Amino acid sequence: MIYDNHGRPITYLRLAVTDRCNLRCFYCMPEVGVKYLHKSKLMTYEEMLRTVSVLSELGVSKVRITGGEPFVRHNMIDFMYQLSEIEGITELNITTNGILTGQYIRQMKEMGVRAVNLSLDTLDKKRFFEIARRDEFDKVYETLFQLLDAGFEVKVNAVVMDGQNTQDIIPLSELTKDNNVSIRFIEEMPFNGEGAHYPKLNWNAPRILAEIRSQYPDLQKLVDAPNSTSYNYQIPGYQGNIGVIAAFSRTFCGTCNRIRLTATGDLKTCLYDDGVLNIRDLLRSGVSDEELKSTFINVFKQRPKDGFEAERNRKSIITESMTTIGG
Ligand code: SAM
Repeated sequence: MIYDNHGRPITYLRLAVTDRCNLRCFYCMPEVGVKYLHKSKLMTYEEMLRTVSVLSELGVSKVRITGGEPFVRHNMIDFMYQLSEIEGITELNITTNGILTGQYIRQMKEMGVRAVNLSLDTLDKKRFFEIARRDEFDKVYETLFQLLDAGFEVKVNAVVMDGQNTQDIIPLSELTKDNNVSIRFIEEMPFNGEGAHYPKLNWNAPRILAEIRSQYPDLQKLVDAPNSTSYNYQIPGYQGNIGVIAAFSRTFCGTCNRIRLTATGDLKTCLYDDGVLNIRDLLRSGVSDEELKSTFINVFKQRPKDGFEAERNRKSIITESMTTIGG
């Protein structure tokens, strides 16, 4: 097990396998999309497998695949099978928008994927189109129930956006009545690929929670799992639970056990940093596994204390899209 300079174990990798997406959510990227990178700039599956293998020897045991939309990358499911076979990786999960996901449910079950995060910001078809700029609500909604029926632990991620979908907070919460699903409301972050719209954050975690409580005054606080980024609650008598993620207020950094690898190989030891090292270039320069390992150890010993320090240390202001970072 490897600990960072603040005594936090590094056990969790969020691996972005592509920068491409089949939605155009306005809070994530401009309508025209981001300038997608040439394939040669992306980490190959072999490079990612080698990196995960080395990280697993350092104590990383959990991998979440993200993107972009993971399933738009060719042969993703085969790559997932290979990842699931790496010794030391005991948990393999995925974050997806649900459009292409349904067809891979059987294979994901077979390889032992336990949890799926599904992004769904509204239960209203028209608002879905306004937010995601693609008419895919029906597909995503169907996928949600397919995943639940298949027995996955499903967490629905809903970004709360002022003037866009705050009227969805209660209907989304109501989904927990008859479904063992976790609905997680996320503060909007400035990763929209433009840098111009830096949210004032009218809807921060306390306000989101107050909105839920106004409808469900008996809302009960649950015990949060260690390293949880969400503060979790349950409506008495309901099957599922509700989480609130202070992604912009950054109140959970003290227990952060996660690192990120972007599709181009930038290693981020905090969501808010601008990349501490490029692993793709390092691998292509011919490093040995031992050299890679000591490089990782070195950067883990220089982690910022929290997302505010990471943002202060940046060479440039935030202009990147979440699709290139891996949400
Ligand atoms: N395509 C996959 C999906 O839709 O889940 C994985 C990638 S997506 C970038 C991962 C998560 O990041 C999604 O739940 C998305 O809502 C969230 N996200 C993207 N931009 C965000 C922003 N500006 N603020 C908060 N969350 C954001």
